[in-house]
Amino acid sequence: MKVHLSFAALLTSAVVLPYWTSAASAADNPRNNWGRAALGPNITPTEWKPAPEKRPLTSHRRVLPAQGQVLELAKAGKSQAIVALPQNATASSQAAAKLLQRIFKVMAGVELLVADESKIQAQGNNFQTEGKSFANLISIGETRFAQSAGINARDLALDGYRLQTSGNTLFIVGQDRAPRPGHEGTPLRVANSGVSGNIHANGTLHGTYALLERHFGCRWLWPAEGGGEIIPRRESLVLQPLHESDEPAIAQRIIRNYYPEQGVNAYGRRQQQTVLPLLNRSYTSLVNKAKNSNEWFTAMGLGQSILFNTEEPFTAYWRKYSETHPAWFALQADGTRNQARGTGDLARISARARLDVSNPELIEFVAQEIIQKFDADPTLTSASIAPNDGSYPSFCLCEVCRRLDPPQGEPVSFSIMDKAGKTSRIEYPSLSDRYVIFYSQIADRVAKKYPNHQLMALAYSTYSSPPLYAKLSPNVVISYVGLSYFNDDQRAKDVRGWEDWARSASQMRLRPNALLGGYGMPAVFTRKLGQDFKRAYQTGMVGMDWDALTHNWAGRGLNYYVLAKLAWDPSLDVDALVKDYCDSGFGPASPSIQKYFAELEKLTDEAAAKVGDSARAEDGIDVKSMKGAIQVLAQSYTLERIEALQAILNEAEAQAKSDQAVLERIAFLEQALRYARVQTNLFGAYFAPRSPERKQNVQKALQERLVVFTDIYDNHFYAQGIFETLYRQSALWQEFGLDGAGRELKSANE
Ligand SMILES: [Zn+2]
Repeated sequence: MKVHLSFAALLTSAVVLPYWTSAASAADNPRNNWGRAALGPNITPTEWKPAPEKRPLTSHRRVLPAQGQVLELAKAGKSQAIVALPQNATASSQAAAKLLQRIFKVMAGVELLVADESKIQAQGNNFQTEGKSFANLISIGETRFAQSAGINARDLALDGYRLQTSGNTLFIVGQDRAPRPGHEGTPLRVANSGVSGNIHANGTLHGTYALLERHFGCRWLWPAEGGGEIIPRRESLVLQPLHESDEPAIAQRIIRNYYPEQGVNAYGRRQQQTVLPLLNRSYTSLVNKAKNSNEWFTAMGLGQSILFNTEEPFTAYWRKYSETHPAWFALQADGTRNQARGTGDLARISARARLDVSNPELIEFVAQEIIQKFDADPTLTSASIAPNDGSYPSFCLCEVCRRLDPPQGEPVSFSIMDKAGKTSRIEYPSLSDRYVIFYSQIADRVAKKYPNHQLMALAYSTYSSPPLYAKLSPNVVISYVGLSYFNDDQRAKDVRGWEDWARSASQMRLRPNALLGGYGMPAVFTRKLGQDFKRAYQTGMVGMDWDALTHNWAGRGLNYYVLAKLAWDPSLDVDALVKDYCDSGFGPASPSIQKYFAELEKLTDEAAAKVGDSARAEDGIDVKSMKGAIQVLAQSYTLERIEALQAILNEAEAQAKSDQAVLERIAFLEQALRYARVQTNLFGAYFAPRSPERKQNVQKALQERLVVFTDIYDNHFYAQGIFETLYRQSALWQEFGLDGAGRELKSANE
């Protein structure tokens, strides 16, 4: 690579050399020459263009000419079929049989018998077990019946399935092979916050859910305990001949579950434990309430059959190598490479060490470390090279690194620390090119031995904008953190950023925080979500990991539903999904519910279009940008708009007449408006002009909110998540010396 040193850059570097840098040390070794000037090649900005389309937007679902006869599986309260399981049934097949038993019972009041295939004999046209005779067979998994019929799912991707009738048998077969032999069900740690799901293929179970959805009208709109499981009641269960297969478009389909699953592995546990005392409720109560919170994710085909290793691999580097290899660490403004300074817990700070990413010895070491990991575990197919997520210390500003940074890169800012420990922020061009070079140099070395293994890297922080000249190796997967549905400017920027990265990277992973935006206010953003998702798929998305589903089912459930459906099949039509959601969940009230969601989408779009605080990046999940984001919400979600939405739900109630299940689902949706009212009241009190009553009004609004939140937690648990809001907003009430329950905080001198 040819390095162009611009005259202007040289001039700047001469001017800003810090007072403690001696001219002699700077001249001797460019590695020790700290500076603020980017010295990389001058890149003339080219006209922006979208990424090329890598894949068509077509469904993987195949429907073939069917054989077999019409199967009457249940009649007049009696089962007409028996379920056969193979002797060594996969966990997925066993779950599929249990699911069929449960749903058949609710649908038609029948007890479905499940038997080991060895106990079932074909006799004439019937199937017999223990003296009982059945007209039809439901064969789940690779039974001998399936084998002799030549029906399996081996041609399909992991998690795929085939549903096929032949004679008087229905075959359900799926790809359940564990992607890492011996590791089935191994929990996957996501970053530092918990577990997002298990790694195993679940094809047979996905096929069974698909059968119930497409051929028996069942739906999983939101968790069953909140009334979102739709199971139509029927006198008899009749199945027309069928032959179809499907497989997921992408192998990783994660939406993180914010609630603890089966009492363990709580994501967001810290937040929940911090705010539960405000409600005077225990963490145990939450664990109990949320114990089935993962069922909906499974029903919707979410999960993963591939392990993308996304850990932070460099967190132990300072502890392990600071004494033996000090040169591997980022050069600081004070001339040292010390990564253990700053305020707070030094062990935690040094775990976020910055590396001197242009150091060839370091690059070689990291590559060898990964190769050794792959050698030791042949089931591993990816390794992470994601830099530490950090605060202090600063990025390397040695001359060798700076020669990689084009001055035309998008401006970013980060902190530097001087000898006295005083920090200040500096402006500097994006570090993306130097990081892409770092990623690629490691990846090229690993690829010599493992050409098909993947190296996971990040587009984030000061290296989130796309590289201007550096080329990314084909075995690097870029995880892109972006997208917002409460800030159009941010969304537009992120969409462009994705397109830019997608031109450099052959594989991309979508890792948005967008579901956390908007402080739990009811919102519909299905159309924007659909556009972004489809485009991401077409331009190379190989996996997704959304942080996080905070269980705002009443006000956000439609978005969750559409996202999960698109994750399996991005070709699905969003409007059709929304209509189906309303029709299947709200029957006679569907027209009003469609109107309700359309109004809510309009309101969400208006809020997203408003220009708020320029600092509200990443949907305002950090305290600094919170006020701006909340101010926009307060201006948009007025009590008038909330009452207009309520009026539409009242119309829906009238349309539902005496359909009790539909009335209950409408009452479920209303919880989001209850939540919005108390939040809007509180925002009104908070943003009111200064007055002697202001604190009292905030306190009163907090107390009113607490009554509603406690009732939602106790009696409408899945309708609305309240933890994120209580946790993030606490900083606002602290200004008044109040906690989230409106109680006086004890001040330090009391
Ligand atoms: Zn450096």
